[in-house]
Amino acid sequence: MLLSITTTYQPATDLGYLLHKHPDRVQTFSISSGQVHIFYPEANEEVCTVAMLVEIDPVNMVRNLRKKGQSLMLTHYVNDRPYTASSFTSTAIAEVFSTAMNGNCKSKPDLVDKKWPLEVQISCIKAKGDLAERFFAPLGYEILCERIPLNESFPEWGDSYYCSLSLKHELPIKDLLTHLYVLLPVLDYNKHYYVSKAEVEKLLSKGEDWLKDHPEKELITKRFLNRSRGLTRMALERLAESEGELEEETDENDEGNKEKEAVQISLHRQRLETVAETLKEKGARTVIDLGCGEGKLMQILLKEGQFEKITGVDVSVYELQKAKKRLHWETLSPRKRERLELFQSALTYRDKRLEGYDAAALVEVIEHLDADRLQALERALFEFAQPKLVVITTPNKDYNAKFENEDPDRLRHHDHRFEWTRQEFKDWAEKIKQSYRYDYEISLIGEAFEDKGGPSQMVVFLIT
Ligand code: SAH
Repeated sequence: MLLSITTTYQPATDLGYLLHKHPDRVQTFSISSGQVHIFYPEANEEVCTVAMLVEIDPVNMVRNLRKKGQSLMLTHYVNDRPYTASSFTSTAIAEVFSTAMNGNCKSKPDLVDKKWPLEVQISCIKAKGDLAERFFAPLGYEILCERIPLNESFPEWGDSYYCSLSLKHELPIKDLLTHLYVLLPVLDYNKHYYVSKAEVEKLLSKGEDWLKDHPEKELITKRFLNRSRGLTRMALERLAESEGELEEETDENDEGNKEKEAVQISLHRQRLETVAETLKEKGARTVIDLGCGEGKLMQILLKEGQFEKITGVDVSVYELQKAKKRLHWETLSPRKRERLELFQSALTYRDKRLEGYDAAALVEVIEHLDADRLQALERALFEFAQPKLVVITTPNKDYNAKFENEDPDRLRHHDHRFEWTRQEFKDWAEKIKQSYRYDYEISLIGEAFEDKGGPSQMVVFLIT
């Protein structure tokens, strides 16, 4: 697979500085599936072209599959992967041009945000119908998509799904690389690796700025995430949040759903305030917010002088970045900044950094963990970190009956692994009391519905 980028920016050889690849040399890099060669077919003051040749070795990949005991077919040996742009190309871009894609150029930093006249040639890519147009044109590209015939000797057979693609635009190199990184595998639609939650982070870190306004954002997201409905919803929700408007995914006429949404938004506020109030009342001075998400609780606590140290922990770097934004991390006064700390950690592992706090809060976190992982969290929290006070909230499943149009077993959020009834919650709290040095008190949050209790439930554990 061959991809080239040409510029007529003057002096054109500055392209070498931005890409951190010297125009006079051929450089070869190994990636897990083969090799990437970078070279410059043309490099002078007026015109500079950099070429990336990705050499995939399907036979070597077959060996790996065989080691895993997978049964093999002819298509594992003979396929289009070595020839066409795909997720292998994205991997190569991320490996070889990561500094440029992240907008870093120490020697000439002023070049990073400059718009350059750029032209990309991709020798072969699968692009059905007008998809290349639909994906690239809204970003401002001029597109030329030349179809490759199914068989050159028999033109009457018509065209294949493949084309050679040329893209022209005036934009910063870093933007071009992120567009290619996301959109090439989206066109090809055949990722070479298992797509997990980490892929959502990749999409958002590379695409958040331009994807949220893209008319094809849903199709792009779905294809980037290999059709996974759960991950696609998660990514679209995050994109909508970053735009400040939570997208309505429900039927507008569905009063039950509208009501549910309104209840959920105000409920979350109420929940956070109840937790903050409890922490205050119990006299906590140092608090660790476990699964802090985008830092909403931390923001409330920061306003209260009583809290001398407020630490947020989350497994998601993306959430931590959002927390920094919400808390105005960069411009906070030194006095406030000193009281705050944020770090990444998985709550299912013992971590010394979680020790020594008066209180821990877990607001709507435990229901995101699978049962066996929840047990690991219990140990990490109650056996090792051992704060004097632990405040935990989780949805009350009994209350779901209020939303008449809905299956009562349907979970409120796609990432919830469970939702507990009041009895199940009490049983769990009791189990903690029996297993660790804690006593507990349970209360309900939000307005109660008939005899079903409030929408959310809270437990306060106190060390004995
Ligand atoms: N407490 C926040 C966010 C709740 S959403 C609030 O009330 O607004 C749940 C959060 O838990 C997410 O940010 C998710 O990234 C985090 N989370 C889920 N599993 C985790 C784990 N094993 N370790 C750390 N954080 C986790």
